[in-house]
Amino acid sequence: MKPRILIIYTGGTIGMIEDLNTHTLKPFDFSHLMDNVPKVKMLNYDIDNIQFQPPLDSSDMHTAHWKDIARSIVENYDRYDGFVVLHGTDTMAYTASALSFMLENLRKPVIITGSQLPIGEVRTDGEENLITALQIAAATDSFGLPMVREVAILFDNFLWRGNRSTKRSADNFNAFESSNYPSLAQIGLSIHFDTDALNRKHSGEELRPHYELDTTVAAIDLFPGISPTTLRHQLSCPSVKGIVLRTFGAGNAPTAKWFADALRETIERGVVIMNVTQCGNGSVHTNRYMGGDMLSNLGVVPGHDITFEAAITKMMHLFGLGLDATEVVRRLEQNIAGELTVANF
Ligand code: ASP
Repeated sequence: MKPRILIIYTGGTIGMIEDLNTHTLKPFDFSHLMDNVPKVKMLNYDIDNIQFQPPLDSSDMHTAHWKDIARSIVENYDRYDGFVVLHGTDTMAYTASALSFMLENLRKPVIITGSQLPIGEVRTDGEENLITALQIAAATDSFGLPMVREVAILFDNFLWRGNRSTKRSADNFNAFESSNYPSLAQIGLSIHFDTDALNRKHSGEELRPHYELDTTVAAIDLFPGISPTTLRHQLSCPSVKGIVLRTFGAGNAPTAKWFADALRETIERGVVIMNVTQCGNGSVHTNRYMGGDMLSNLGVVPGHDITFEAAITKMMHLFGLGLDATEVVRRLEQNIAGELTVANF
């Protein structure tokens, strides 16, 4: 049996061509993309595709598009061995994180890839990324079961857990990193999967999609000099249910009374606040410094080593389930899709 793979082409640089008038890159259609990768036929897989109409620059991605991608996977789940999602790099880590929460009990590979240079360009990274993504989506273990049973990003010969990834470079082929979680495979002349790092749980539970995402969430980036007026204004947006607070270092924040008062009042109004570090690597340790300790005493949820992308999409997902603030707080602290490491300090 040939591996059956469904490609979901959403857009991104991989499929873009240059507009001859404006010289900007614009999304093009899937036939253009596949015409430029004749090597795909050499894989001898059964490949079908679904194309977004129109294909998007991923800066235009919204939760409705995540629903479309999730639905395409769910509706075709039994028909295919794996899924490859072609996506722009700019918001790829958000999509990967969102899908990881939306597809509970996923037991098949969902490999997201794209490229920094369009597939028609001589030095493109798109051809190799696409072919490797297809091979990973088709890979099985000695029992014939999928090697990868989660949402992952394949980029420049690195396979990262989707909800641990962040775009780190606008210019390099090596565009993504996952600095708090190891790569899921070593990709060189051949592909060696790291079975300790992969989520290989195989419960008999059925795929359980969660399509609802609540976008009444926000993010606040701390910086030295942030004024009480600015902070209060950001905290007081009337419809917001949850806020990701991007803090310094190990989850640290100003110790000033006005700062604590503003957060306390917000939490008393029932808004959930999560503490996520601005650092690319490492974790929130709330009892290391006074500012972090103050946040946890106020009821700010420690985000541990979660990425910003995973934190904001996890909030959208939990509020989308219709949970109240207490339950959202409880689940934010738990690892639900491999997105954070809860350590004891
Ligand atoms: N602007 C593009 C996008 O995210 C960038 C890329 O694909 O690399 O759709």
